[in-house]
Amino acid sequence: MTERLGFFGGTFDPIHYGHLRVAEELAESLRLDRVFFIPAAQHPHKLPDGPVAFQHRLEMLKLAIEDRPGFEVSDIERFLPKPSFTINTVQALKAQVDGQCFFLVGYDSFQHIKKWAAYELLLKLCPMVVFRRPGVPGGRAALQRLLAKITGAPPQWDPDQGALVTPGWPLVHYYEGCCLEISSTDLRQRLAAGESVRYLAPEATRAYLLEHGLYSPTK
Ligand code: ATP
Repeated sequence: MTERLGFFGGTFDPIHYGHLRVAEELAESLRLDRVFFIPAAQHPHKLPDGPVAFQHRLEMLKLAIEDRPGFEVSDIERFLPKPSFTINTVQALKAQVDGQCFFLVGYDSFQHIKKWAAYELLLKLCPMVVFRRPGVPGGRAALQRLLAKITGAPPQWDPDQGALVTPGWPLVHYYEGCCLEISSTDLRQRLAAGESVRYLAPEATRAYLLEHGLYSPTK
């Protein structure tokens, strides 16, 4: 049987329960067999290598998901040209795995899709699963308007599939359920202020970042 695979890109600087909870909910609702967490080697719109190095972000991710079968980390962007364009990542990962892919992305990121490299090709390459980012404005109606601008036709909502349908284009799924208003920015700010991030990220991740003095006031 064809596996259903979620590709979840992000800076993960650091990974937190907001990321993990939405991945869990999407895996459940879309019946995903595996979810690949793909840390950006060099985000096109953020600082080169982020505040902490790729290797640290990768290790924190591995620790965060180690006890969840079906969740995996892909370091594919390490080997791809920089900056890391999503289109290159999806093409390369699709060539490595066998299954039906879904690209998981929060509306806070997806709303800028027209600035992404080869975004029309990306939309055709892999069905998107756009989810509401708690605390960030923009719901299904905003997504519908954005897609209409790209495809030239207003998509129709299909409640059975939980997706927006535009003839000639892959489905764009929309998910509204996730609810943890946590951000990496908030974790970094707390750590820089010497404050606790307990219960915002998995314990193994928290132990790693403390052990390595990541995001600490002295770094
Ligand atoms: P930063 O605060 O540094 O911008 P972030 O918390 O937004 O980081 P990213 O690694 O940039 O995290 O996000 C990767 C993906 O995870 C994006 O698609 C984003 O929408 C999603 N995401 C991040 N935090 C949450 C959350 N609390 N709930 C749901 N989705 C989230």
